Amino acid sequence: MQRTDVNTLGEFGLIEHLTKDFPIRQPSTIKGVGDDAAVIDNGGLCTVVSTDMLVEGIHFDLAYVPLKHLGYKSVVVNLSDIYAMNAFPRQITVSIAISNRYSVEALDELYAGIRAACDAYGVDLVGGDTSSSPRGMIISITAIGQCEKEKLVYRSGARPGDLICITGDLGGAYLGLQLLEREKRIWQENPDVQPDLESQKYAVGRQLKPEARKDMIETFRKDGLKPTAMIDISDGLASDLFHICKQSKVGALVEESGVPIHQEAQLLALKFKLDPITCALNGGEDYELLFTIDPTDVDKVKYLPDIYIAGEILEAKDGIKLNTKGGNLHDLKAQGWVHF
Ligand code: ADP
Ligand code: MG
Repeated sequence: MQRTDVNTLGEFGLIEHLTKDFPIRQPSTIKGVGDDAAVIDNGGLCTVVSTDMLVEGIHFDLAYVPLKHLGYKSVVVNLSDIYAMNAFPRQITVSIAISNRYSVEALDELYAGIRAACDAYGVDLVGGDTSSSPRGMIISITAIGQCEKEKLVYRSGARPGDLICITGDLGGAYLGLQLLEREKRIWQENPDVQPDLESQKYAVGRQLKPEARKDMIETFRKDGLKPTAMIDISDGLASDLFHICKQSKVGALVEESGVPIHQEAQLLALKFKLDPITCALNGGEDYELLFTIDPTDVDKVKYLPDIYIAGEILEAKDGIKLNTKGGNLHDLKAQGWVHF
């Protein structure tokens, strides 16, 4: 028997490998594996489904993540995938596996966060599953959304000449994580020292309490704008742009000067001796939207707050490039997160 280490495939290679021999049999399955969410045609509205799993020690560290924030964020990251289809989430299911380390009070905290997210985004908790785990906690959430078929936006619709747009700002969540990791190390070496995170509320907030861009999808509807392609930025701008380019069979040119980075993220990056643009390109967990629009729609986004035009879609043969502030053209590399 051959034994192949999962590391040789990487996360996306592994998903492709595991799912390649599953044909779509049902005419109602419009989109299977490969986008932010699957799409099911119910004749009328389409149902949009997305699942994410969070594992203690891999995706979260309870040394610095309060359980209430963990509950909130677990829901938000799923809703973000539904919005990334230009759809609206309606229901969630929540499955947990927990070791006996967790008390009812601890789980109440987790669910207080889940409830806060349900309140904020107007979704219903409709089910789930509960199991014990030999150690640590695993949370798996499924979000179910709705959308008219003709309004759905996939990763595959970008065309050469389209403009690349980004909402909000990038890099903050990654820098918040660096900060929390540093404070954890300091605390481990000297438990008497209380962490000072007050002065870094912005980055810590981006890491611990991200929001999904429901407001943007509402704005698109109001202004009659339909992006040609869209993805949420969970792994970092570079990695997520790669997904759009791969699925759309196009290339891209990103202008460094067009990538939105919050001033506090800039300052924090320099403190950590990191390049702010690297944090924005490869940091991830910002849960902003990366989308492309037809150039004739530029007036619809130009005056909207919190949307930045960061480049242009090219032909596939032109590759995926970054034009730096200094005027140098680099190949963009999709690093993203390495889980394995
Ligand atoms: P996202 O980062 O948007 O949550 P992922 O990278 O997790 O997306 O997943 C990419 C695609 O692969 C999605 O369509 C997802 O449903 C699918 N997928 C991920 N893991 C598996 C798996 N173990 N089996 C089947 N499909 C999977
Ligand atoms: Mg996604």
